[in-house]
Amino acid sequence: DAPRPTRAFGVYIGRFEPPHQAHLLVMLEALRSVQTLIVVIGSARAARNTKNPFTAQERQDMIRAMLEEAGADIGSADTGSAETGRLRFVQVRDHLYDESRWLAEVRGGVQAHVGGSRDVALVGHIKDESSYYLRSFPDWEFLPTHVVSPLSATDVRRAYFAGRLGDVRGMVPPAVHIFLERFRQTPEYAELRADSEALSEARAAWEAAPQPPTFLSADALVSCAGHVLLVRRADRPGRGLLALPGDLLGPKETLLGRAARVVRQLTGLGTALDLSAALRAEATFDHPDRSQRGRVVSHAFHFVLDRETPPELAPGRGESGGGELGEGELGEARWLALSEVLAHPELLFEDHHEIIGRFLSGV
Ligand code: NAD
Repeated sequence: DAPRPTRAFGVYIGRFEPPHQAHLLVMLEALRSVQTLIVVIGSARAARNTKNPFTAQERQDMIRAMLEEAGADIGSADTGSAETGRLRFVQVRDHLYDESRWLAEVRGGVQAHVGGSRDVALVGHIKDESSYYLRSFPDWEFLPTHVVSPLSATDVRRAYFAGRLGDVRGMVPPAVHIFLERFRQTPEYAELRADSEALSEARAAWEAAPQPPTFLSADALVSCAGHVLLVRRADRPGRGLLALPGDLLGPKETLLGRAARVVRQLTGLGTALDLSAALRAEATFDHPDRSQRGRVVSHAFHFVLDRETPPELAPGRGESGGGELGEGELGEARWLALSEVLAHPELLFEDHHEIIGRFLSGV
């Protein structure tokens, strides 16, 4: 007979982009030693990109399907409900510039399942420096996995976006492979694959450089009467996502000058706009993982236009008026209600939602 689980709760944190064979083995091992396994799915509610291609719900569904397929005793999706089954999920967004908020959200999500129990263990594998967070929960006993495998989700994604489904098959459980095959038929896959190619080309262009380049971008958060000025990206990666207006710094300009020039061009207000009077704050956003384009540091300026309504945007530059957020509304630049933007992190490029939140959400 299989030994009975000795601990009440196990917590397994990961990105699972996508879940692979080693993740499955870790979860099966954990289910032998804990009564209830809580899988914390990180990097939730972000726009799809080639590093995070799947929504948290898709990853959750893949994990449940692969465990069911492997015969794990977790109850079916119907009987093993989110509140009572042996497998539970918590979805947590990244907070690249606010580690304590991330820790609090992980703890809060886990707490909702364990109630007052202190019998909580943390499952995982200290893989490299990216696993540092496993040391951030000292009150949960660490249960290192015995699973030894060279598998990495990065290799799975590389093969997947290169169209090598045969290689992917050996790395992921069949249920995940079925999902990946189906996803390959979607327009989202086509976009991500094109992004992947664009990123490889951009990387190749710098291969001969004597050292890896660092790019500096000047970005502007312009707010006015409860609205913020955003652009819809025309370039890859992230074509169609909402972004702060900004650009890489040229050789003959200052950061403030660059950001101001972009705002003037977009609004068409030219020098009528007194941006130095409107400047309220500035900050640097330099998380090493903030961009897939390479090492891109953003210096962002927050401008507040003191008006009753946002100014009309120049003809041809974009659409004016407070629009609704949604699919298929293309426009170069537009004013969007701040509350809508804050509620939809999945529509924003890279860490721009966090940048806006830092200046405007009041936290
Ligand atoms: P992952 O999917 O790469 O790995 C999940 C777990 O599985 C880890 O314990 C890992 O060591 C283990 N694992 C992976 N491959 C294995 C193998 N071959 N053999 C055995 N074990 C293996 O996920 P991750 O990147 O560690 O996920 C952490 C998540 O938490 C991410 O979403 C990250 O963004 C998030 N996070 C966010 C913050 C923040 O926003 N401030 C801070 C820390 C972590």
